[in-house]
Amino acid sequence: MARRRQLYEGKAKILFEGPEPGTLVQYFKDDATAGNGTKKGIITGKGVLNNRISEYLMMRLAEIGIPNHFIRRLNMREQLIREVEIIPLEIVVRNVAAGSLCTRLGIQEGTRLPRSIIEYYYKNDSLGDPMVAEEHITAFGWASTMDIDDIVALTLRINDFLTGLFLGVGITLVDFKLEFGRLWENDEMRIVLADEISPDNCRLWDVRTHEKMDKDRFRRDLGRVEEAYQEVAKRLGILPEAGMRDLKGPEMMQ
Ligand code: UDP
Repeated sequence: MARRRQLYEGKAKILFEGPEPGTLVQYFKDDATAGNGTKKGIITGKGVLNNRISEYLMMRLAEIGIPNHFIRRLNMREQLIREVEIIPLEIVVRNVAAGSLCTRLGIQEGTRLPRSIIEYYYKNDSLGDPMVAEEHITAFGWASTMDIDDIVALTLRINDFLTGLFLGVGITLVDFKLEFGRLWENDEMRIVLADEISPDNCRLWDVRTHEKMDKDRFRRDLGRVEEAYQEVAKRLGILPEAGMRDLKGPEMMQ
């Protein structure tokens, strides 16, 4: 990995300088954290699976006209992406009550929400990603009202599409987190989907059994974490070609 300059290391991913200006290489680690970094662990093969799952979902979203940062997969753990200016917000969409919605508002986990709810969190680890309102976002200049309109419109389309896609493979999309960035082309700015979409930042439940197939298995020590990520990839039809043995392999596809 000494072959290029590392620009940023996050909890689950590393960003390297890309081969051309305006591109980055996104490397997916097996590291898992929860509770804003208080719980740490390794989910073997997670990076390989999330690389694939996120690639697949970003490509499907691009097909329906959702602009995103994904360019192409480079190898088992890396993908080439467009460099964007990340908007410092985590956009959470909820279809079914779970996680912090339940603890904050006393709603029972599993309650189907009357409509999808969008929430905003300010991306700031030292503050523990606090929830914010549109008022804070515009007042502090993190995004404009127009940016927020774009983000909401994209987020609702993403939610509709992914809800259907997961339902087709027997999975309920309970909630998920998105990040967006600004992409500059000449003097024009477009807001595009960035980061990743994977079981690390989605809650995915089996439609029939309601079994959790996402990072909650790690957060709550439910066991069979690796298997849950594999099952999501398997249902989407995108397990690595050589099956489970392939999950740690160094194979380069470039
Ligand atoms: N989420 C995330 N990163 C965060 C916080 C939340 O990806 O820093 C995702 C999480 O996986 C879930 C959704 O956003 O799918 C809603 O999370 P919630 O607010 O319930 O917080 P949690 O219970 O995960 O702390």
